[in-house]
Amino acid sequence: MMLTTRTATAGAIAMLVLVAGCASTSAAPPPATQSTDARVESVTGPASDSAPVVVPPPRIVKRYVQYGKQRKRQMAEYSYRHYGKREWRLTPKVIVEHYTATNSLSSVFSTFSSNARDPELHELPGTCTHFVIDRNGTIYQLVPLTVRCRHTVGLNHSAIGIEHVGMSDSAVMSNRRQVKASLHLTAWLMGTYSLAIGDVIGHNENLRSPLHYERNRAWRCQTHGDFRPATMNRYRKLVKPLAKKWSLKATPPKWRRSRC
Ligand SMILES: [Zn+2]
Repeated sequence: MMLTTRTATAGAIAMLVLVAGCASTSAAPPPATQSTDARVESVTGPASDSAPVVVPPPRIVKRYVQYGKQRKRQMAEYSYRHYGKREWRLTPKVIVEHYTATNSLSSVFSTFSSNARDPELHELPGTCTHFVIDRNGTIYQLVPLTVRCRHTVGLNHSAIGIEHVGMSDSAVMSNRRQVKASLHLTAWLMGTYSLAIGDVIGHNENLRSPLHYERNRAWRCQTHGDFRPATMNRYRKLVKPLAKKWSLKATPPKWRRSRC
């Protein structure tokens, strides 16, 4: 979610990380409500028309943030403003990889559970993500996969968000435990929702996604600097052996020409 726009300088980026990120404050994380592998989620089945592929689920610790009626109403209104239809339910069609630009897991929980107006775009509901992967490779789920989260402008109508605790994409990619967990989670989601390797993108690639849609003209070129194309090309290459092993779709990305 972190780092801001295409033109931000290193100094500006550092400042924006402090004020506008996915995880910029600190507080103790709420206690885990339950620890489980992800089989319970898979029982509910994919939203895709295609048949799911059975991928062994990674271990996922569920620490759901507050996402009650009010937040769902706010998400539905957000969807109306930005996508033209009041809806808070998610039908996953793309997976977006992020990093938090903080090394603090607790600040990530604090930010996403607060449901406060985000400091960058000043809207409600507050930003969130479906998963956060800590530096030790532990995967936390914050929001059910049936619910929309605000993590990527233009794609929140259909995107699953995966945050990685870390200060840069290179820091995440050099952390073997984190990458291993991330690839397994991504492959499991691909299998569950019949997604292809090309449906796995970085936040920084959002403007070129054929699914990108934004009614607010001022937001149409909004992106963040996390998980840039070069990093995502490496990431997608690492997904390939898993796609082969589990017979997942290996179709590469089909990019749209960005007008930004
Ligand atoms: Zn991001």
